[in-house]
Amino acid sequence: MTGASRGIGRSIALKLAHDGAHVVLVARSQAGLASVAAEITTDGGSAECIACDLADGTAFGALVESVAEKCGRLDILVNNAGITKDGLAMRMSDEDFDAVINVNLKSVFVGCRAALRPMMRARFGRIINIGSISGITGNAGQANYSAAKAALIGLSKTLAKEMGAKSITCNVVAPGFIETDMTEALGERIKEQIIPSIPLRRLGKPEDIAAAVAFLASEDAGYLTGQVIVVDGGLSC
Ligand code: NAP
Repeated sequence: MTGASRGIGRSIALKLAHDGAHVVLVARSQAGLASVAAEITTDGGSAECIACDLADGTAFGALVESVAEKCGRLDILVNNAGITKDGLAMRMSDEDFDAVINVNLKSVFVGCRAALRPMMRARFGRIINIGSISGITGNAGQANYSAAKAALIGLSKTLAKEMGAKSITCNVVAPGFIETDMTEALGERIKEQIIPSIPLRRLGKPEDIAAAVAFLASEDAGYLTGQVIVVDGGLSC
């Protein structure tokens, strides 16, 4: 699973490991990954760390293939890593647009493509891509991020249609405002302005997203594919 060194990814990794999966933790920060792996081990779970920069799609595709080969199977792929490089569209540079598309979208395609062969062989697979409500509603200042997250929905629905006959499911979990480093940058004043518009009157916790991902990864979710599960405290309802 990607983006496992902190935030939402850390929580997803802890939950999947707690539920019995051997989790391969991927991000750039070796130290962050090692700390999450240590938490998993302390909880009695099993994990390994592989540092990789997802901006390099070729490296990530090779990583997924090697993990499937080494483990002899690949049951679940969670594409969670994501970055923002916000700015109004009229002032957004090509570099900032491409950087977000590469990490938030291209790496997801490359990872899914590499995962499909072992999943097809096993006639089982669960792919869960972490989107955002910005990909559903759009968000001023996030042309690059919203475009990438919207495209994830099209990609996931397409994979659901291509792979359903092989019992491979592909779904998107779309968080609202979740308390992580990514939203820390918003500042307290903005966060307090947002909370009254959330029906459940709080920002989400990474564990709220991990619970939805764990369900989609489970045997119980075998008849659920091509869907976008919005976990936003009701913000977009
Ligand atoms: P975060 O705290 O900023 O963590 C991002 C994770 O992605 C880190 O583990 C980071 O690890 C990894 N990552 C970033 N760039 C990478 C790269 N080039 N290569 C490999 N790993 C990379 O973010 P978060 O809030 O947990 O967000 C997780 C996902 O949820 C993202 O896809 C985000 O778009 C989505 N989301 C978040 C919110 C929110 O409110 N927080 C809302 C909607 C959607 P390293 O820095 O160690 O590489």
